[in-house]
Amino acid sequence: MSRDAASGSLQRDSTSAFAILGGTPAFAEPLHVGRPNIGDRDRLMARIDGMLDRAWLTNGGPLVREFEESVARILDVPHCVAMCNGTVALEIAIRAANLRGEVIVSPFTFVATAHALQWQQITPVFCDIDPRTHNLDPNRVEDMITPRTTGIVGVHLWGRPCAIDELTEIADRRGLGLLFDAAHAFGCSYKGRMIGGFGSAEVLSFHATKFVNSFEGGAIVTNDPVLADKARLMRNFGFADYDEVSYVGTNGKMPEVAAAMGLTSLESRHEFLEANRRNYEAYRAGLAGVDGIELIVHDDEDLVNLQYVVIEVDEAAGLSRDDLQRVLWAEGVLARRYFFPGCHRMEPYRSFFPHAGLVLPEAERLAGRVLSLPTGSAADPEAIVVVTELIRQALAIGPQLRREMRTAGKADADLSAPWPLSAAS
Ligand SMILES: *Cc1c(COP(=O)(O)O)cnc(C)c1O
Repeated sequence: MSRDAASGSLQRDSTSAFAILGGTPAFAEPLHVGRPNIGDRDRLMARIDGMLDRAWLTNGGPLVREFEESVARILDVPHCVAMCNGTVALEIAIRAANLRGEVIVSPFTFVATAHALQWQQITPVFCDIDPRTHNLDPNRVEDMITPRTTGIVGVHLWGRPCAIDELTEIADRRGLGLLFDAAHAFGCSYKGRMIGGFGSAEVLSFHATKFVNSFEGGAIVTNDPVLADKARLMRNFGFADYDEVSYVGTNGKMPEVAAAMGLTSLESRHEFLEANRRNYEAYRAGLAGVDGIELIVHDDEDLVNLQYVVIEVDEAAGLSRDDLQRVLWAEGVLARRYFFPGCHRMEPYRSFFPHAGLVLPEAERLAGRVLSLPTGSAADPEAIVVVTELIRQALAIGPQLRREMRTAGKADADLSAPWPLSAAS
């Protein structure tokens, strides 16, 4: 941590004090979004030792079964099928739910949601979002239904539940499958019920950067025993028995070492949440009253994991989102534009549907405003005070800072990958 951070004071009262215009960066070591939460090492090592002693490394071992049972219990859902990652879990859920043709999905998500459909020749039909929730706007979903539509995939972005009741009503009435990408929503709830038990199935990710992680990992959770059985077979090449194959399948198995990490991570989830909550409160206090910055909020009635701290930047306040990101990066704060520019502007979707943006005005607008800020157990409130002070002081002199960044040729620095990506995960 820098001297500024240690002393709790940060002076950026002139433009030249900002690192982007030659000042000393606030952080000597970059502060990342998505540094993994590491649980209790001793517990992890003990589990790995046991696994090596058993010499049972994969294929339905005891750690994977224990992990599945723990997840099912925590989410209060009868079936959990663990997978090697969230993307394969999505692909298998899509197949097990018989989706084909076209499936309606949010464009404002991690690209894996769309790819899991496209990978099996299903067309993702992007439907606009509700700007207040960043999730699928249920009032627009029906307009996107065609004779080829077989389902809807909702995403609980930032752990904020989709409009589950409305989507369920539409899916039931129109005879469509309904899946949820719950990669962000482990431990979150909707109207008093845990996320995990809605739709035909929900899909979790335990990637290193997620709230609970198993290095790489994912799961399908469902109330439907038939869908769960199908998913179990599909994850294991379709093998129903030693020599009997009953479906086309793939290899989606979670290895034991991943379950060892997953179980250890689950045990620490309350500490992870406490760290996230402390960080979120520090952001809320630090950004209160800053014109042009809106911190996303959660329903007080719901359980949350607060794994993502997302702000919306209103350019009218003097700095664009990209300007602010450049200012922060120069200071060592590696804020990210999740999920810029939207799936519909990524390949192959951009070429398939070059005009998709015309029916996605809210997603387009949001993609230009969002910024994810560092949190998790690797960030601490003292660092966050510095981050919020940087934002506050940058916006206080926004137009001037922006002008001088332009003059100094700093207004178009590449925002795609300034730091080794591996450092963030
Ligand atoms: C992380 C993530 C995925 C993919 O999960 P992996 O485990 O990384 O394959 C899918 N959807 C969303 C919204 C995600 O954030």
